[in-house]
Amino acid sequence: RREANLAHAHEGCRTADGVRIEVFANVGRPGDAASATAKGAEGCGLLRTEFLFLERVTAPSEAEQAAQYQEIADAMRGHPVVIRTLDVGGDKPLAYLPLPKEENPVLGLRGVRVSLRHPDLLRAQLRAILRVKPVGVCRILVPMVTSASEMRAVREIIEDEREALGITEPISVGAMIEVPVAAVLADRLAAEADFLSIGTNDLTQYALAMDRGNPHVAAQLDGLHPGVLRLVGQAVEGARKHGRPVAVCGGIASDPRAAPLLIGLGVTELSATPAVVPDLKAFIRTLTLPQCVEVARTALRFESGDEVRALVTSTWPGL
Ligand code: PEP
Ligand code: MG
Repeated sequence: RREANLAHAHEGCRTADGVRIEVFANVGRPGDAASATAKGAEGCGLLRTEFLFLERVTAPSEAEQAAQYQEIADAMRGHPVVIRTLDVGGDKPLAYLPLPKEENPVLGLRGVRVSLRHPDLLRAQLRAILRVKPVGVCRILVPMVTSASEMRAVREIIEDEREALGITEPISVGAMIEVPVAAVLADRLAAEADFLSIGTNDLTQYALAMDRGNPHVAAQLDGLHPGVLRLVGQAVEGARKHGRPVAVCGGIASDPRAAPLLIGLGVTELSATPAVVPDLKAFIRTLTLPQCVEVARTALRFESGDEVRALVTSTWPGL
């Protein structure tokens, strides 16, 4: 079946009743982009740009970044590339970026909070992204957003740099939904963003108050927890008020058991690890929207991720 799925991997993806679901791939290193294309990904839904910034003594220059982003965009052969701005702090310190020592780094300076405190670093990265050709192929994704005002602040800087570079085309800017209030107030964020992308790894960590790096609780972190799924549903509802699409780029997007639930909640893009793209597309083609909505509705009434998983595997015994 694997081989049959691979044979159809480059075709578009719709549910059996015709709902378009885009299947993208996450890229964490430049080499991943080629395998994403080979596996039939319809774009890169999350480029984790940390690979360029970590484990070095100085920041990568704007030119160096632009060259890397261009290489990845070329490897994606015209498909959209969602580039996440630098997501460091917390567990990912940088030698050249002085951050205060924090008691709870995961609740401190992370993601966009760091970027807005170091606007030079952010501006260089944004310029590098804006320089990729063709203009518009790259979308910008902002991590760890908590408030609409953070999105406005980043947007202002993007507009500023766009003008300075003489770019007239609009640039798509999205907010990551990783903080529970961002899911709850998604309508406010969606007013400032062109799309939302749910980072279920962090969203689960913050919703359950369990450190994803802590071995004592990591096993209980479950992206299929009904509480997390309710947050996903709220994010979709908020986005719909502004007609914005919602993607999921966290780990559960790579789990076929999550696909019917996410689709049933109204998610229209999944960004998975490249290797699972063909099988994920093949499974989605067997689903219908009413069936997904029904399963999601039932799942939201449960109290644990295990119950949700049991429901999905009893509905689709092949999983
Ligand atoms: C997430 O939090 O789900 C996510 C995609 O970001 P990362 O795993 O890089 O924190
Ligand atoms: Mg995250």
